[in-house]
Amino acid sequence: MSAWLVDLNRGLRSLSRHDPQQAARWLGDALRQCPTTRPAELHRICLYLGVALKRLGHTETAIRSWVSCQRLRKRGPMRRLLIRFMNQYGMEKQERQEIDDWKAFASIQLSRYLRSKNKRAFATVAEQDMVVDLIRDHWRQIRKDGRLEGLSCAQKHELFSRLRIVFPTVVIPGSPDGPGGTSGASIIAVNFQSRRRVGLMDRCFCGSGLPFSLCCGRTPGCAEVLSGLF
Ligand SMILES: [Zn+2]
Repeated sequence: MSAWLVDLNRGLRSLSRHDPQQAARWLGDALRQCPTTRPAELHRICLYLGVALKRLGHTETAIRSWVSCQRLRKRGPMRRLLIRFMNQYGMEKQERQEIDDWKAFASIQLSRYLRSKNKRAFATVAEQDMVVDLIRDHWRQIRKDGRLEGLSCAQKHELFSRLRIVFPTVVIPGSPDGPGGTSGASIIAVNFQSRRRVGLMDRCFCGSGLPFSLCCGRTPGCAEVLSGLF
């Protein structure tokens, strides 16, 4: 039996024994070794890996796994599972819309800051605190002036992406990224087959059948951004 299949079975056994930690390890190994020519099997591994991660409380990473699932295979119960846990930004659903909005705003600004510095992680806790504080100040302002009232999620997303916070440059001794780095460019999604810009509510160009905003254009969660997964 192939190694990945052995790992998949071990993972499923661990899941049924209520050991999601061990299950996530086996399923991760299975995913790394499974040949890309087996989309149906990859789909299965991603589905269960997502379940293990969800049980471990890593909902953001679970959503990543389930989105990959949906990309691999359009049919199946995946879409319903995703919609249960994912909000309209493609992030982990929170108990209130206001928290969904704040998390999306924070994530968009955090990833923009890191991209503008050409890095995937903060160099120090102090740097991270400063950036998060600034983002929070802007958020308070946005809430206060009532700019979000009556806007759809897509409109809010556009507003969050348009809003540029000027972050002071932090120079860390001995680091190459001083002033003069590339300015924070935002990513524009284009379907190269139709050469058309993809709207948030359009069907994703990867063929998953999900709206772009829930698939390749989903906003990564703050925890994902902070661990370099964006
Ligand atoms: Zn997609």
